[in-house]
Amino acid sequence: MTAKIIDGKAIARTMREEMAEEIARLKQRGIHPGLGVLLVGDDPASCSYVSAKEKACGEAGIHSRQIHLPASAPYDEILAATHDLNSDAAIHGVLVQLPLPDPKMERGVLQAVSPDKDVDGLHPVSAGRLMLGLPAPWPCTPHGILQLLKRSRVKTAGAHVVIVGRSSLVGRPLANLLSMKSEQGNATVTLCHSCTKDIAYHTRQADIVIAAAGRPKLITADMIREGAVVIDVGVNRVEDASAKKGYRLCGDTDFEGLREKASLITPVPGGVGPMTITMLIYNTVQSAAGAWSGGGAHG
Ligand code: NAD
Repeated sequence: MTAKIIDGKAIARTMREEMAEEIARLKQRGIHPGLGVLLVGDDPASCSYVSAKEKACGEAGIHSRQIHLPASAPYDEILAATHDLNSDAAIHGVLVQLPLPDPKMERGVLQAVSPDKDVDGLHPVSAGRLMLGLPAPWPCTPHGILQLLKRSRVKTAGAHVVIVGRSSLVGRPLANLLSMKSEQGNATVTLCHSCTKDIAYHTRQADIVIAAAGRPKLITADMIREGAVVIDVGVNRVEDASAKKGYRLCGDTDFEGLREKASLITPVPGGVGPMTITMLIYNTVQSAAGAWSGGGAHG
């Protein structure tokens, strides 16, 4: 079997076209969705993620405002910048670009984001509401994965999904969403992590394998069953002297090997990545529409 590729770029494009209509409707009502971005330091990867997010917002007709602080900025200054974005009436979504230069500050800074503007879905209120099935912004990457599955007509109801990686950014919210009694859930979920004894034992039983461990080529063909659906979240830089930048991007799966055995698979890049940014736009639009503050529709 040769797997069909799930084209994240194409699905993202379709979703952005759908959102353009919603954005136009909001603008007719005098609401211009806006995203506030807080960037601390000059980490090249973070700077490039922020530019990509702002560019995507601009293309979608969403305005963005960036606060860029030096890596040496003290905690109080970072909190003040977060509050500044929270209180800006023209801003509907506030994003703190992670990692912060001092990771110890992250928890406090994320908690300073107003839950009404928490477009990354990382505030404890958002995480709690998600777990309880209440209206909440769903974290962008897990939400993007649900959209990839839905739009590729992969049924999650009754399926056994094995997720590898338990971060609060990807694995755990995804496990919650997929196991929830809902249209995009109703799956039986196994969550594997760095202390799981035999990952292959679990992945071989899965209808859907989602790799989100940040380990290049962790999942190999012998670890999945014939016809499984594979979603590769990993973005890893591996050295490659032949590449212009001296490295290339590689996922958490052995793409070429798995391609001969899976029924559907996401590439890296071009799979989950484009969906993450798309769901950020989606959450910003939902926030502008008052979806969480007004108790409206979720995710
Ligand atoms: P993280 O480091 O916070 O968490 C990794 C998780 O994987 C941990 O729970 C750990 O227990 C588990 N893990 C690590 N090594 C393992 C192993 N050998 N076996 C089993 N489990 C193992 O990472 P994260 O933020 O969740 O990101 C995971 C990967 O996804 C990274 O490569 C990251 O770059 C990528 N990512 C991509 C996107 C995107 O939009 N494409 C978004 C977020 C994260």
